[in-house]
Order: sequence, then structure tokens, then C-alpha cells
Amino acid sequence: MPELPEVEVVRRGLEGHVVGRRIARVDVAHPRAVRRHVEGGDDFAARLVGHTVASARRRGKYLWLELDGGAGARGANAALGTSDAPKAAFAPSTQAVPASAGSDAVLAHLGMSGQMLVASQGRPDEKHLRIRVRFDDGEELRFVDQRTFGGLSVHPLLPAAGGGLLPAPIAHIARDPMDPAFSLDDAVAAIRRRRTELKRALLDQTAVSGIGNIYADEALWRARLHGSRPTERLTRAQGRAVLTAAAEVMDEALAQGGTSFDALYVNVNGASGYFDRSLAAYGQEDRPCPRCGTPIRREPFMNRSSYFCPRCQPRPRLRRPPMS
Ligand SMILES: [Zn+2]
Repeated sequence: MPELPEVEVVRRGLEGHVVGRRIARVDVAHPRAVRRHVEGGDDFAARLVGHTVASARRRGKYLWLELDGGAGARGANAALGTSDAPKAAFAPSTQAVPASAGSDAVLAHLGMSGQMLVASQGRPDEKHLRIRVRFDDGEELRFVDQRTFGGLSVHPLLPAAGGGLLPAPIAHIARDPMDPAFSLDDAVAAIRRRRTELKRALLDQTAVSGIGNIYADEALWRARLHGSRPTERLTRAQGRAVLTAAAEVMDEALAQGGTSFDALYVNVNGASGYFDRSLAAYGQEDRPCPRCGTPIRREPFMNRSSYFCPRCQPRPRLRRPPMS
């Protein structure tokens, strides 16, 4: 699964290449790619054609395209050009196109191998092309997915609990640390209210979103915290430290991966290179901790692995009295 920085790279590519374009035609080449759109492929296409892509949004690892207007605005190009409208504060988009509750959004599920490609009409189809969205100027957005775990689906935008508008299926997802409206204190408080282990709380997307297994391990290493630390014993300072570290490591990955797409391809699988060069703990079993030299240890974790330095990140002792 792509992590937040990779998804943000794709979002920026879409913002630059498809926002403002009007959808003329949609071809669904494989029904699996629209299986999350329960009304079916014909309905999926009908809800896109005639609409203009108003913005490309992301929260955590989720990505979607907002379509202009509500149900009555089909084909009207209604939302573009209204730059005096208030900018939605919840997304890092530079577009000033407003969306309203009830507008449709195209939610992208990238799965294991999903790619969003931008190509000109006439370019040969990719072998695993699943959905083609053709714009009225001849450019195309292509959803290509070898393993077909991913897909696209259309959903209404709903007001989210934490503010902003989200596609209905992800309306429960918390803000991520790169969101301008992210509240560090609120996220720390949400984590400390849990009765679970710290790493599980970092991963579950409802206190904070966008942190996957790799970034969780790196953030825990930077904050010198073991992932099995009980959340109810986490101090505010420790909570702030681990979330700040998560934001830093994602910022660094984005800085290194943010230029990995070119004018033609918006490619979610373009490896940022960050994972090879800059990881301190994740995937580093038996290599020396960059801070203290102790060999990094690997342990099973939820069908995956956790990597940590046993010296910098001591396992919490049992039945330690709560700290505040
Ligand atoms: Zn260490």
C-alpha cells in the first residue's frame, strides 16, 4: 500500500494535470475496478460525464477528486472561476474551487498496484488499463492496476466530524499530520484516551491518519518510544514527540519523492527512494541503530513486522503506575 507521501505526490500530479478539465467520456474496461461503486459501471460513468474536476484532495492515505457542483450542476462548469469564494481549509490544495456537501467525489482506492496516469488521447493503452476518463480537450486520466485490488467509486461529500468535507465512506478518518488544520493536542488527547498499545493507536486512522507501518516505526524510533507502550500511560510530551516525529519523517519523504513524476505520468508506484536511503529502524534488522549502534530488532506485529532499537526504545515494564 502506498504511504501518505506517495499519495500526496499523486495528488499534486492530479492537481496539476486534471483539475479544471471537463469529463467527456468514461470507459470501464474491467468491472472489478468499479466494484466499490455499488450502482455499477454505467452509473459510475454517468455521474462523471459532463462534470469538471474541481479539486484533488487527500486525507491520510485516501485520495479523491471533487467534481464541480451538486446534482443539478451537470455540465455547467459552474464552480470554476469563482476564485473569490472561500478556500476550503481542510486540504492542502491550492485550488480555490469550492465544493459543497452533496457534491460528488471520485474516491481512488490505489490498493497494492493502482496507478493514476495522465496521457494524451491516442497513446497506446497500458496492459492493465482498468478505467479511462477522457476530458473534452483530449487528455485522459487512466487508472491502471495490475492486481485489481484498487478501483474508483463515486460518493457524495459529507461534512466530517473533524471539519471539512469527505467522501462518505471515509468520513470517519482523522486529519493527518500534514493537514494545515491538524491539531497536535487533539490528536495526542485522542491517542491517550485509547486503551491499546501506542503503535496500534498510531495505525488505526481514527485518532490520527496517514501513518502506516513504516512511518510508525520510524516515528517511534525518533521519539525513543516502544510501540507496545500502553496509550493510557503515554505522557502528553511523549505523544507530541511521536506525532511530531511522524510529521517530520513524512515531510522528509515528500521532499525526496515530490519530484518523482513527470509531465506525462502521475505514478503512485514511483518509489520515492526515501525508503532505501533514510530509514533508521524499519527494515534494518541486525543493522546498527544510527543513534547508539545497538542492532535493530524485528518482531512480528499484526501479520507484519515491527523494527526498533532495544536500547533506545526499551519495552515498557508491566504495571508501572500511570504518569500524567
Ligand atoms: Zn539505539
